[in-house]
Amino acid sequence: MGEFDLIARYFTPAHYSPDVLLGVGDDAAVLDVPAGHRLVAAVDTVVEGVHFPVGTAAEHIGYRALAVNLSDIAAMGATPRWFTLSLSMPQADAAWLQAFSQGLLKLASWFDVQLVGGDTVKGPLSISVQILGVVEQDGWLTRSGAKPGDQVFVSGLPGEAAGGLRLVQQPSLRRDEASTAQLLKRFYQPSPRVELGKALRKVASACMDVSDGLLTDLRKLCRSSQCGARLQLEQLPASSALLNTFDIATTEQLILNGGDDYELLFTVPHTRLLELQQLMGTGVRCTPIGEVIAGDGVHCQRHGVSVNLPDTGFDHFADTSS
Ligand code: ADP
Ligand code: MG
Repeated sequence: MGEFDLIARYFTPAHYSPDVLLGVGDDAAVLDVPAGHRLVAAVDTVVEGVHFPVGTAAEHIGYRALAVNLSDIAAMGATPRWFTLSLSMPQADAAWLQAFSQGLLKLASWFDVQLVGGDTVKGPLSISVQILGVVEQDGWLTRSGAKPGDQVFVSGLPGEAAGGLRLVQQPSLRRDEASTAQLLKRFYQPSPRVELGKALRKVASACMDVSDGLLTDLRKLCRSSQCGARLQLEQLPASSALLNTFDIATTEQLILNGGDDYELLFTVPHTRLLELQQLMGTGVRCTPIGEVIAGDGVHCQRHGVSVNLPDTGFDHFADTSS
């Protein structure tokens, strides 16, 4: 199977919606951004052995490569529309490509995003997805709008994905079947919070997605907003799948520093809390976990008592020599 056949067979959509003027097959794609909207762009690369364990099923690799990008668009309050795929792989294996493209394109169709181009090369297994979305002009979310007094929220159950990864790396830690299935699913098939992100445009003062760990990502949001935060540890949403599998200390560690959650971390001014509640009636659960304060840094408390927690969130180039 040559490169041309491979692209035609696995990565050429049968049809496009009208906003794709030119898709896979030419030198570049041509896309129609609706009037009154802005283009929103993000790119994320996943590398075998770094972002997913060697031996991960191809379907999950395809799903995750797109999911992590959808999550960035969700964090902006934007609507994902198109993506390009840069695929580096050691060989062209038909079964692997079939499963990979199936995982990828299944998620793409759920979110109505269209594959409009890419690049295919031979090399170590690594996948870059560039995602493009649209947002109403002046209507996007940023990390930088939090103000002292705002409440801090997180969606879903952070920590579950990191718990799932532990169970992949150390299968002997697995306990009951349902909890194991839940944690593995959160790692292999995270749910990008696109609908929530769009709804939050009207209520959140700042928003980001949690990819490196709740604590470290909250620090990033605070730095961008030039403020600090007080985190109430007893308010963190506890997953029963995590508690069924790990002790309480490990569970808390996974929630705070686990990463790979792809949940939304956001702040809401007090004047907007009622609106948030109305929008929470349906959809994904969001939990208040603290408040924005003047100053800097993230200060953790447990039942009103200060607790010092090290930040062990993920950083590719963290200096581990000291
Ligand atoms: P060129 O070398 O001229 O850039 P390529 O042979 O790399 O062209 O790609 C041919 C067409 O196939 C282009 O439209 C490109 O965007 C698309 N393409 C290549 N690889 C992929 C891929 N993995 N997924 C989707 N489209 C791809
Ligand atoms: Mg070209």
